[in-house]
Formats: sequence, C-alpha cells, structure tokens
Amino acid sequence: MKKSVGLILIVISLLFILTNLNNSKSKLLDNEPQIEITDPVYEYGILVDSFNLIHGVVKNGQTLGEILYANHINHQKIAEIVLKSKEIFDVRRVNPGKKYLVINSKDSIEKACYFIYEESQTTYIVVDMIDEIDVYKGEKEIITKLKKSTGQITSSLSEAVENLGVSPRVSIQLSEIYAWTIDFFKIQKGDAFTVYYENNYIDGEYIGIGNILAAEFIHKDKSFYAFYYKANKNFGEYFDEEGRTLRKAFLKAPLDFYRISSRYSKNRKHPVTGKWKGHFGTDYAAPRGTPIMSTANGTVQVAGRTRNNGNYVKIRHNGTYTTQYLHMSKIKPGIRKGVYVKQGETIGYVGSTGLATGPHVCYRFWKNGKQVDPYMQKLPPGDPIQESNKKEYFTVKDSLMNILNNTY
Ligand SMILES: [Zn+2]
Repeated sequence: MKKSVGLILIVISLLFILTNLNNSKSKLLDNEPQIEITDPVYEYGILVDSFNLIHGVVKNGQTLGEILYANHINHQKIAEIVLKSKEIFDVRRVNPGKKYLVINSKDSIEKACYFIYEESQTTYIVVDMIDEIDVYKGEKEIITKLKKSTGQITSSLSEAVENLGVSPRVSIQLSEIYAWTIDFFKIQKGDAFTVYYENNYIDGEYIGIGNILAAEFIHKDKSFYAFYYKANKNFGEYFDEEGRTLRKAFLKAPLDFYRISSRYSKNRKHPVTGKWKGHFGTDYAAPRGTPIMSTANGTVQVAGRTRNNGNYVKIRHNGTYTTQYLHMSKIKPGIRKGVYVKQGETIGYVGSTGLATGPHVCYRFWKNGKQVDPYMQKLPPGDPIQESNKKEYFTVKDSLMNILNNTY
C-alpha cells in the first residue's frame, strides 16, 4: 500500500513537471520577438543593409565634383577626395553613361558614407568617407559557367557556330586551336564538333566566353581532340589525347587577324616598281599599328631600317630557321639585337615604311639560309607535355574526355 501511494505521488509530480515544462515552452514561443531574418545585402563588397542607396548614371558633361556636391559632400571633402584619388584613378575621366552609387546614412543627417563609381565592366572605384577618406579600386567577381555545345558542319565553321546561337568567339578560338591540325577551308558537310567552354558573367550579365577547355572535331570521320592544360599560372595550351601539343614551333602567321595580300611566289609584278621579280615573302595586310608577333622563340638578329625593308626585325630561331618582318610603322621599344623573344611576343607594329603600297607586314621565312614558302614546309612541332606534368595532365584530360563523350 505504502509503495503504491509513493508511486502515484511520483507519477503525479512527474506529470506536473511535464505540463509546466510544456507551458513554459509555449510561453517562450509566444514571447519570441518577430524578427524577419534576411540575408545580408552587399554591394561592391560593402554591407549596405542599414544605409540609404542612391543609384545614378553620370550625365553628359557632369564632373565627379558635381555628383559629389549634389550628394551633400562639401567642397573641402571633394578636394580631399580628388587628392587621394590621384594614384588610383583620374577623376577628370568620369564618363557619361557610367553608373555610380551613393551610400548615405539612414539618420536625419543623411551623411554620405561611400561613393562608388563603375569605371569599367569589371572594375570600380570606392571612396570610403566613413572616417578618414580612403579611395580604392575594386574588382567585380566574374562568375564562370561551363557549357557544352555540339554542332554539325553544313558549310563553314563560323556558320555552324552561329546556328548554335553561341558567341562567334567560339569559332575563332576553335580555328586557332586547330590551326595546324585542320584546314578549315577543306572541312566538309558531315564534319562535326563538340566544344566545352567557359561563359563569363558579371552581376548576372553575360560578358563573353573565356577559355575553351576541351574540344573534339570530327573531320572525315576522324576525331581530333584538344584539351586545355595550364602547366603554370600564366600560360595554358592545348594538347591531344596523347599529350602532344597542337601547336607548332612556329605560328601560322605573325598577326592575329589578317588578310594574305600576296603569297610567296617565284615570279610576280611588284606593286611599287612594276617589275617582274620573285616575291619571297608572304604579305599580310592589316590596319596600321596592329601588333606583329614573333612566330617562334628566338634571338633578335637585326632590328633596324633599310630603304626597301623600312623598319624591320630579323629573328634567328635555331641553326635552321630565321624569320624577317618588314615595313613596320614602329619596332617595339626594347626589341634590339641580342634580345630573346618568345613565340607570340610583340616585336613591332604594322606600317608601310620602305617599299610598300599600304600597311602590311612582309613575312620572310628562311630555311638553311634560303627563303622558302612557310606554307609549304613541314614544320617541327612545339614541345609536348613535360614529363613532370604528365600525371596531372592525364587526370585533367580523362575528366574532360568524359564530359565530351557523355550526352547530357
Ligand atoms: Zn612582301
């Protein structure tokens, strides 16, 4: 009997405690303040939740000083801002149409705390006026999204890329990657390609393509692969599935964009003298000032001027090959005898000095002391993947190959 009374007491008190606990819990819930928790809002890396934001666009003829003054920043402060901006950006070059943002305090004073000017698509200037004035440059984050596109050739590569609705830069880059592998003038109906590449965005807005990471080009039923690999931070290039480079020791041309105006020929009528004579160079027409690149690694042998050549540069690549670039408007400063240049390095600019009718570069290709047609040469390949990078390269290649082959 005693035992059961005790048990009942325990059960009752337990029930009491439990109900109480429950009560106190619901009370707590009732009293909880109703705060809406929102994500913090950042603009240009500044937490702006508790500020007033005034977005604006620079009007025609408007100066930085005017914009600041209109936003309650006094002349003394403006002078200080101009002074502190000196090393960062030129305040006189505030351009109409560019966006800016004024960040004011929410109190009755509405003190301007930050001023931000969008200098370019990717960079902006921050004037921090919270305490002492501080001016700095910021960079917007580029968001890269990867995309795979597959196309069929009906007439040309550029048309096939256009039909896919992707950037024309894709066809330009593909033709550069395969410059030595595929003759794009000879591609035919039934050829196809798959390309895996970067699309870049800033603030959700598409700004263009980045690198092509992998590609497969099917030409006459054969697959030609290209995989992008960066052996170091600054330099990436394309290799095939075996780790062979798609690059030759020489570039196809000393210019990025050009029109061949005259090919190597044993007999042609000279456009200036009118005489029939061999033309032992290849002429690339391009706008005056277009950078001219060394087509291969080598050492500058001559950087000078003659009556016929105008400003020109001659580069010795090895015991076999030498190249020459004529009619430059200007030789790049620093390019002189004995300087080592890398493939693709700018050595001068297109012009029409010497015996030339219009702006072009006459590219001369010497093999064993004789001028030959570079387009008729079987040129040596560039270096394959380095032994020490092989393991890493093949890991990268395998995953890219999977992406190219998977249909999703
Ligand atoms: Zn020429």
